[in-house]
Amino acid sequence: MSQPLTDSHHRVHRSLRISIVDKCDLRCTYCMPEDQHFLKREELMTREEIATIAKLFVERYGITKIRLTGGEPLVRPDAVDIVRDMAQLGVSLGLTTNAMTLDKHLDGLIAAGLKSINISLDTFDAQRFKTITRRDGFDKVHANILLALARGLRVKVNMVVMRGVNDDELLRFVELTRDHDVHVRFIEFMPFAGNHWGRERVYTFSEMLGHIGSVHSFEKLTDDPHSTAKAYRVADWPGTFAVISTVTEPFCGNCDRLRLTAEGKMRNCLFARTETDLLSALRRGEDIATLIEANVLAKHAMLGGLPPFKPESQEEVLHDLSERPMVSIGG
Ligand code: SAM
Ligand code: SF4
Repeated sequence: MSQPLTDSHHRVHRSLRISIVDKCDLRCTYCMPEDQHFLKREELMTREEIATIAKLFVERYGITKIRLTGGEPLVRPDAVDIVRDMAQLGVSLGLTTNAMTLDKHLDGLIAAGLKSINISLDTFDAQRFKTITRRDGFDKVHANILLALARGLRVKVNMVVMRGVNDDELLRFVELTRDHDVHVRFIEFMPFAGNHWGRERVYTFSEMLGHIGSVHSFEKLTDDPHSTAKAYRVADWPGTFAVISTVTEPFCGNCDRLRLTAEGKMRNCLFARTETDLLSALRRGEDIATLIEANVLAKHAMLGGLPPFKPESQEEVLHDLSERPMVSIGG
């Protein structure tokens, strides 16, 4: 009989994001600072440690959803094995990837039990891709999105929308939902250590809907109660799109997510400023259950205790951010 992980605001947590590596083969400006340092191999959770911790979350605490992320999960040599381990836990399993090397791993991932994949793409312009990610790769990523769809995976495409960078491409991404049964998610640009965030660079949820609505009429879809995204569909198009409005309309009230970094630190919020070192305790042979329960109980009501992302609180938000950039938290 599992014992649900409940925080002091009565939210029950069912979803765990596990970062399996902090390195990446891209260096997106909004995610990775230029001088990013990476963990040493021995600091990362091993495949066995990931399986042990994940099993505890599933069997003891009733976690039903696991998403593997990073850094770039597919740069880890045993990524497919880890996917297989997670699939065997019987959870709803997802993987978030930049898809740079997805073609090489796709057969293995599907055979390992992966059915659903989130792929990040912020532009359809190859030169702009290079500016945003500091690497070449548009053709590869684009081809791999089409390949994943052709192989029958459920595909979500994540686009971080930044004013003056790629906000002029929203309609091109919406058109993907006309051509494919794909779910496109527009993500408001969020503040993390070293990503040059500014409130003025956030292309907002309401601006996005206004922009799309000036060309297409779309309907609201029913959202899953714990969804971070507000979903829509252009009438009669096979795909759907959604907006993740963390900055202008946070959805913390029904958040059921917990996170584990690649070095085994547990975080109860994307914006948490404290974390619990599960891996060191596990390596010392200690029971990590009490640490997990205390971490969840301490979860803040909103945004990890940061002030709301209003223009007047911008300095405060930037000052209070955790030391971690997104690449080492795991999105
Ligand atoms: N490398 C993989 C990828 O890019 O999909 C997985 C890790 S990445 C950190 C996970 C997600 O976080 C990606 O969809 C990425 O676009 C998103 N992300 C990173 N930094 C962000 C930011 N500052 N604001 C909003 N989303 C961000
Ligand atoms: Fe790498 Fe993903 Fe971060 Fe881009 S968003 S730097 S691909 S981890």
